[in-house]
Amino acid sequence: MNKGRILVIEDEEKIANIVKAYLEKEGYVVTVAQTGQKALSALKDGFDLIILDLMLPDMDGEDICQTIRKDSDIPIIMLTAKSDEDNRVKGLGIGADDYVVKPFSPRELVARVKALLRRHKGTKESISFNNGNLIIDSLSFEIKKDGIPVIFTPTEFKLLHCLAKHPGQIFSRLQLVNVILGYDFEGYDRTIDAHVKNIRHKIEEDPRRPFYIKTVYGAGYKFIGQPDED
Ligand code: CA
Repeated sequence: MNKGRILVIEDEEKIANIVKAYLEKEGYVVTVAQTGQKALSALKDGFDLIILDLMLPDMDGEDICQTIRKDSDIPIIMLTAKSDEDNRVKGLGIGADDYVVKPFSPRELVARVKALLRRHKGTKESISFNNGNLIIDSLSFEIKKDGIPVIFTPTEFKLLHCLAKHPGQIFSRLQLVNVILGYDFEGYDRTIDAHVKNIRHKIEEDPRRPFYIKTVYGAGYKFIGQPDED
């Protein structure tokens, strides 16, 4: 059974083959690209998820990620040897949804793939705020600001969707980590700030003085949009 098509962008053959084997055992259809150029030309074939190595011979994984994000919200998991927090935040800030630090367990990676695909499916509904100023449509995975579609990564979508479904409720960073990853991971909580920053740039008139997502000092974040009547 085909559970989904996955593009693995990785130049180390050994790692690529192991990842491919584990994913195929789980029913995924896997394509491997060993260079950035090959990956970008393979993209037109249509995939459900991308596993992207940060260090490639011809291109930087971060550049590939940014190129993909220009017109796609496909889930992306980054493979990285850079394990310090700054690089993690940077990886997520440019649009990756999750990251796995090398050396990693293939089983762990498969679990992340499953979780991310599940999150990407989301719940099916559309919610509108402030007389249609902000619309969150879980059917089409589309966010509209002033009627204009805005590109969101799956993680950003999940985050905004969670906050907006509970206007006025304060969520701690760790709660939001749980929402987007499906499990607690303390080392991840600062990346929430990076995601919120990205979201604000996409939906706020003035990201420095946000209207929709308020920072609650010492506590977390809350959404204060006014839901429209149906
Ligand atoms: Ca590599």
